[in-house]
Amino acid sequence: MEEKIRELLSTIVHPETGKNLVESGFIEHTAAAGGKVTVVLRFTKSRDPFAVKIKNQAEELLRGAFPGDEVLVVVKEGGAAPRPEPKLHTTTGGIAHVIAVASGKGGVGKSTVTANLALTLRNMGYRVGVLDADIYGPSQPKMFGCEGYLPEAVREGDEDRILPAEAMDIRLMSIGFFIKPTDALLWRGAMAVSALKQMIHQTRWGTLDFLLADLPPGTGDVHLSIIGELKIDAAVIVSTPQQVAVADVVRGVEMFRNENVRIPVAGIIENMAWFTPAELPQNRYYIFGRGGARAYAEQSGVEFLGEIPIVQSIMEGSDEGRPAVETQPLVEACYRGIAERIVASVMKKER
Ligand code: ADP
Repeated sequence: MEEKIRELLSTIVHPETGKNLVESGFIEHTAAAGGKVTVVLRFTKSRDPFAVKIKNQAEELLRGAFPGDEVLVVVKEGGAAPRPEPKLHTTTGGIAHVIAVASGKGGVGKSTVTANLALTLRNMGYRVGVLDADIYGPSQPKMFGCEGYLPEAVREGDEDRILPAEAMDIRLMSIGFFIKPTDALLWRGAMAVSALKQMIHQTRWGTLDFLLADLPPGTGDVHLSIIGELKIDAAVIVSTPQQVAVADVVRGVEMFRNENVRIPVAGIIENMAWFTPAELPQNRYYIFGRGGARAYAEQSGVEFLGEIPIVQSIMEGSDEGRPAVETQPLVEACYRGIAERIVASVMKKER
């Protein structure tokens, strides 16, 4: 079976080098078992413009050859990525950096950004986990296509550990695995926070370079309890360009900068920054206004990490359980710059 996989992959040629994937030595790992075909491709360049295209080709080919099997092709770039020494953050093992993704209000795309950032960091060679702490609307299980996952508990020494879901090489734990979406709103803050505490401390994350925590929108007491529980290294704030959204960002930044909290803000991401219709690729329509988050970032000394346009495939990817970074090279390129800035910001603080 694995021989057949290699044979199939040898028909895919890298447009730049003219060599196929086997000749290029890009195949790091193949596995086929239990109705699952997994391939890890490792590109030599740190930013290979053909990576996502080749990944799509490989998936299509493998799906055709193994109908009915679940096919996953993971792309990693840039040789072996730097592996920071993990610090012991939670009781559950080695997580090098915990990054909170926050927003002043709901609906700005915080969860979408979290999922796509996670996949981008994975593409850069990092080991990534996602903790979906959005008690008001946990959406990571849907975005990663594992809504039905039932977390299993295992005994390790004297302690119970909860196993995270694994999708697209990302470890995922979500409050959504424990409560029905329709019940989420009925949960009292304190109840949800105590369930979250358990998730934070008992999940068997293993070794991770980055854990992205998708926080609930807003800046209330619940947030402070969650932030207190998670040892967060840096916060990223997502906003849309509307003035009201930007006003909420101010509260978000203040929450992290509060003297009792003191979490470094790695920067602001402006989501849904503009819309470009497919038939007019040169035109950008700033339907929610323009530049508000960037201007605020500059005024308040917070880094502006980048902007993401409104793209139909971003919305569709989240709905279909395959965030757009997995399939759309242009979206991945957009996230890549942002992810690089976040990594640089976190590493800088460490030195
Ligand atoms: P939040 O977590 O802030 O509540 P979501 O991530 O759930 O927001 O996003 C809200 C909606 O907007 C979702 O339907 C999502 O698919 C869509 N969305 C988010 N970002 C984009 C984008 N850049 N382009 C198109 N749709 C987007």
